[in-house]
Amino acid sequence: MSSVRPIVLLGDPRLRLRGETVDSFGKPLHELLDDLTATMRAAPGVGLAAPQLGEPLRACVVEVESRLYELVNPMIVRSDGTDRDLEGCLSVPGYVAYVTRKEKVWVVAQDRRGKKFKVAGSGLLGRAMQHELDHLDGKLFIDYLETMDELIAVGTGPADDEAETADDAVGASRVRTRKAVRALS
Ligand code: ZN
Repeated sequence: MSSVRPIVLLGDPRLRLRGETVDSFGKPLHELLDDLTATMRAAPGVGLAAPQLGEPLRACVVEVESRLYELVNPMIVRSDGTDRDLEGCLSVPGYVAYVTRKEKVWVVAQDRRGKKFKVAGSGLLGRAMQHELDHLDGKLFIDYLETMDELIAVGTGPADDEAETADDAVGASRVRTRKAVRALS
């Protein structure tokens, strides 16, 4: 049975710890991965890392286009290009910002049984994997900003729903902001 657990928020020192390498692939890890997925889906978000549940371990989940990736001890082994887009974090609710990342990354990780696999991702998947891997090193997307003025406050009120059908420049930017909010991880 998985459970939705509270997400650790900015200001909590547990978010800043470096995760320890996972060396046991038994029931406690499986329960942690199940809780990560349940909590990510409930938020909802496209990814969640163990430190966000207060567990200093190198494990995270990413779900893009209905495909779930459980990444244990993940490492970026190759990257290509750069991409700048809006990004948010479930541990920093209410704000998004433009962050420059690699356009495509190749990640080697272990699955819940310890078996190694490789996954390549660009676009949202690539960005989410980079975001989650940062969490395993205690790093947050706000660390890439030169000043906190770069943070864009986002609301979740009815005004944002109107923006979804708007075709003016402001509307388009608000739709983009909504997209980023959905991409919280
Ligand atoms: Zn995050």
